[in-house]
Amino acid sequence: MMTKVLTPLFLLVGMILGSSTAQAAPLKVVASFSILGDLAKQVGGEDVTVTTLVGPNGDAHVFQPTPKDAKALKDADIIIVNGLGFEGWIDRLIAASGATAPVVVASQGVRTLTLKDPEEDHHHDHDHHHHGGIDPHAWQNIDNARMYAQTIAAALQKADPANAKDYGDRGAKLDGDLATLDTWVKDEIAAVPHEKRRVITTHDAFGYFADAYAVTFLAPTGFSTDDEPSAKEMKHLIQQIQSGKTRALFLESMGNPNIIKQLAAETGAVVGPALYTDALSSDTGPAPTYQAMMRYNVTSLVQAMKNNP
Ligand SMILES: [Zn+2]
Repeated sequence: MMTKVLTPLFLLVGMILGSSTAQAAPLKVVASFSILGDLAKQVGGEDVTVTTLVGPNGDAHVFQPTPKDAKALKDADIIIVNGLGFEGWIDRLIAASGATAPVVVASQGVRTLTLKDPEEDHHHDHDHHHHGGIDPHAWQNIDNARMYAQTIAAALQKADPANAKDYGDRGAKLDGDLATLDTWVKDEIAAVPHEKRRVITTHDAFGYFADAYAVTFLAPTGFSTDDEPSAKEMKHLIQQIQSGKTRALFLESMGNPNIIKQLAAETGAVVGPALYTDALSSDTGPAPTYQAMMRYNVTSLVQAMKNNP
């Protein structure tokens, strides 16, 4: 008799405790840069608060952390980073902050690409950030972004089991959105003839995009945004444009716009809109989410490539 009464009571108490835990303070997520921050928000929804270290329009290659960033890491329940050497400053910052939260490497499991050595192609003679030869910009292939989303969802579930179903549901929705987006990108690029799929832009952030979607990118700087092109390299690119092979010139939302502007001035080529590669735009800009960034970039690229001879 007693047990019959006690069992449902115990279950009821458990349910109340469970639901009050779920409604407790949201999980504190710190993401290293805006694209990861967006994916974490999409998967985490109302169950998380996301702090992004390198915010919209920020350049993670040359980031200077502040005490505020260290504090965010110290207070974090979970830390999400890209890895592959993208955030050269993160390990030291995490160690210095005294953070104890688990660090999730969002890029784990992706098939990595090696950076092509600019020394071979363009005869650079200055320092580069080669990050051990691995290209860190893996999110520019949407298949990889789907893996990022899955990794983030699994990590949030582990860190906050009470809301595991929510993370799973939102992760599945995001995965479906990204699959649709990938098909759209492939259709858009397919509408551009192969011989016109050539673009010049400011840093080599499109290796994974080029590999996944069969577009050729020529970058006047080396891989990192703080590099300056050599005179020889500028000459090489000017020749590329003047020979009529590539007229699609693009700036990025960050980095040095003067290089592309100089190329445009010397060749008369028209510069397309700023592309978003390593950072999203602000909420009022054209690329406030990962999906919006890809749509904006692809629309801009396709329009310009169609004008290549
Ligand atoms: Zn980059």
